[in-house]
Amino acid sequence: MNGINNRVKLNNGLEMPVLGLGVFQVEDGQVVIDSVKAAIRNGYRSIDTAAIYQNEEGVGQGIKEALEENGLKREELFITSKVWNADLGYQSTLDAFELSLKKLGLDYLDLYLIHWPVEGKFVESWKALETLYKNGKVKAIGMSNFQIHHLKEVIANAEIMPMVNQIELHPMLSQVELREFLKENSIQVEAWAPLMQGQLFENETLQEIANKHNKSIAQVVLRWHLQNGIVIIPKSIKEHRIQENANIFDFELTEEDMTLINALNQNHRVGPDPDHFDF
Ligand code: NAD
Repeated sequence: MNGINNRVKLNNGLEMPVLGLGVFQVEDGQVVIDSVKAAIRNGYRSIDTAAIYQNEEGVGQGIKEALEENGLKREELFITSKVWNADLGYQSTLDAFELSLKKLGLDYLDLYLIHWPVEGKFVESWKALETLYKNGKVKAIGMSNFQIHHLKEVIANAEIMPMVNQIELHPMLSQVELREFLKENSIQVEAWAPLMQGQLFENETLQEIANKHNKSIAQVVLRWHLQNGIVIIPKSIKEHRIQENANIFDFELTEEDMTLINALNQNHRVGPDPDHFDF
């Protein structure tokens, strides 16, 4: 069966790893350095950060050390960051990108995302992302937390189609309609909070499926994402969990398992609603 190095092809031909490490709420400095290094040592090739996580410097340091220690080249990694709401607008997005790049110690990013769809601002930022893409500063561009109507507004004004939308997505919020729209528009779905930030671990249905496969609930849920064609970026700072979350390529959920997990949806968010946020 395929493995940790599996990639999906984005609509511009770029290949993106199906699994990455998320570093939201991971402290800058040694904690994030160690997490990034543990992930890369264990075969991860993708890291998801953002300006607002305030750990880009540590992520950059972790990448630098991991490249040396594992004899890897920068091109083998896939690094994502995001422009924060306060920096939306054309020039301010370009400036924010340069600052992220500098903090990360990199000379290009693989993916740059508009973090949240702030009304009246995101179209201008999209134009900035198009400029960065055309200038070769970033290999793919996209957004996060965009609903269908936000995406339609961008697409109506876009020269370049978005490649990725990173959204809250897990069995309690399966986002069927949005996923369908993304598929129709060849925009890759990436799940944030793929493990619902740890709130799925008491679920009996998931426990039964996990027992049957001799896997953990985390592994079953991550496998459910993969079998739905969704890119995942689970967060952990513990090496054994970083390993556990990658150990999902040696089993397959049955159609019945998938149906049972699909039926858990409650349209329940753990994060903010992209149509009603005030930050
Ligand atoms: P997550 O669903 O990845 O859950 C992380 C939590 O689950 C952590 O508390 C961790 O300790 C626990 N955990 C991880 N693996 C486990 C395991 N195997 N067993 C038991 N517990 C385990 O939540 P997240 O961190 O919010 O989301 C993942 C990533 O998505 C973030 O780190 C970040 O990179 C990104 N993100 C993006 C946005 C956005 O607006 N674009 C918002 C939130 C997160």
